Amino acid sequence: MNNLQLTNSLTRKKEIFKPINSKKISLYACGPTVYDNPHVGNARSLVVFDTLFRVLKLIYGNNVTYVRNITDIDDKIIEASKKNKKSINEITNNITKVFHKDCESLNCLKPTKEPKATEHVNEMIDMIFSLIKKNFAYENNGHVYFSVSSFKNYGKLSNKNLEELKAGNRIEISDLKKSPMDFILWKPSNKEDPGWDSPWGRGRPGWHLECSVMSEKYLGKIFDIHGGGLDLIFPHHENEIAQSCSNNSTNNFANYWVHNGFLTINNEKMSKSLGNIVTISDAVNKYSGQVVRLALLSAHYSQPLDWNDDLLNNQKSTIDKWYGLYEEQKEVGISDIANSLLDDLNTPGFIAKIHELYAKANSGDKQNKSLFNSACRFLGLFNISKEEWQNLKKKKIKLSESYITKKIDERTKAKNSGDYSLADKIRGELLKEGILIEDQKGKTIWKYK
Ligand code: AMP
Ligand code: ZN
Repeated sequence: MNNLQLTNSLTRKKEIFKPINSKKISLYACGPTVYDNPHVGNARSLVVFDTLFRVLKLIYGNNVTYVRNITDIDDKIIEASKKNKKSINEITNNITKVFHKDCESLNCLKPTKEPKATEHVNEMIDMIFSLIKKNFAYENNGHVYFSVSSFKNYGKLSNKNLEELKAGNRIEISDLKKSPMDFILWKPSNKEDPGWDSPWGRGRPGWHLECSVMSEKYLGKIFDIHGGGLDLIFPHHENEIAQSCSNNSTNNFANYWVHNGFLTINNEKMSKSLGNIVTISDAVNKYSGQVVRLALLSAHYSQPLDWNDDLLNNQKSTIDKWYGLYEEQKEVGISDIANSLLDDLNTPGFIAKIHELYAKANSGDKQNKSLFNSACRFLGLFNISKEEWQNLKKKKIKLSESYITKKIDERTKAKNSGDYSLADKIRGELLKEGILIEDQKGKTIWKYK
C-alpha cells in the first residue's frame, strides 16, 4: 500500500501522514451541537470523517482511536429549550437519539469515544483556572476571557493576521473584554439557565474550550488528526489551538487538520440560519441511507458539493445497478485497490474504481465480483441484503413523485377555495400510502412517513 497523504489545513499542503505512534493513531472530529435535527450538511462531515476512520483502520488495524464529541451545553440549546418550552435535558436527549439513528442510517462506524461536554465541566474549570494562573486568560465580572494577544501563533491555521481576522469576521462586542478578539472561556448563567459552580460564580463553559478539554483527555496533549467542517477553522479551531498550546506549552495541538467543504443548495451553504436545510432523516426516508452516503462521497471532501434531486437520483440508479452483483460473502482485502483513498481520501477516484470492478465482474469475472462487493462494503454500502433493498425500493416507489405533486396541488386548490374537507381527504389518502404532507411558510412539502 502507498503512504496515506492528507491536505493539512495548517500548511495548506498535501503531506504524507506520519503518525506520532503507529500503534496509537488518534483522530478527533467536532461533533454535533444537539439542539435541532441534524441536516445533510452535518452528515457530510460525519460521513467524511467516518471514511477517514475506515481508511486509518485499513492501514493501522485496531490501533485507531476516533473521538467525536457531543456538544450538549450551548446558547443555541438554551434558546431551543425556551422556544419549545421543553427542558434542556429533553432536547439534548431527544436530539442525541435522532443523531444516533441518523449515524446508523448512514452506516457510520461508532467512534471509539463519544464524550459529552456536560460530563467534562470540572476538567474545563481546571483548564480555565490554569490558563488564568499562567496569564493567558482573565476574569471580569463572572466572565473569563482568553487573551488572544498572549498567543503568538493566533491566526496560523486561518493563515490570517489579527487585523485581517478582525476585519473579516463578526466579533462579539463587550466592554468586559480587554481586546475585541478575546473570546469567552466561561460565562455566567441566569438562575433559570443551566450552570455549574466555579471560582468565578455559577456559569457555563464556552464552546471552544470543550474540544480542547475532551481531545486532551482521550487523545493527549498532542495528537494526530483533527477534523471538522470548513466553517470551524475560525474561530473554533483557531481558539482550540490557542487554548491548548498555551496551557500545555506545546508548539502543536493536532499535527494534521482536515476540513470538509460545504454542502450547498443552489450554491449556498446549507445551514439552519439560512433556512435551506434538509434533515438527514428526511433525506434517508426519501432516498435511503446508502444513496445519501454515496452522494456525500461523490465529490472530493475538500470541494463544495451541491445537493439536488439529480445528484440523489443518479446515486440511486448506481446503487440499484450495483445491487445486481450483490453477494453475501467473506470479505476479501481491498488494500490493492485503495490507492485513491490513500491519496487525500479521493472518494470519487475510489468510486470510479468500483465502477471499473463492476464492469469486469458483470462480464463474469468471479474474483472481481468479490473485490467489487468488498469495496462497496468498505465504503459503507451494501449494509442491507438485496432482498431488503428491493423491499425498500418497492415501498418508496408505490406512488410516483408526479402523482404526489399533482395531489398536493389539488389539495392546495381545495384549501384556497375553502373546501377543507376535500383538502383533509387528500392529505389522509396520501398518509395512508405513507406520504406525509406538511405546510411550511407558504409552501407544502412531502416526505415518506
Ligand atoms: P454544528 O452542529 O453546526 O456544529 O455542525 C457539526 C459539523 O457539521 C461541523 O463539523 C460543521 O462544520 C459541519 N457542517 C455544518 N454545516 C455544514 C455544511 N453545510 N456543509 C458541510 N459541513 C457542515
Ligand atoms: Zn470542536
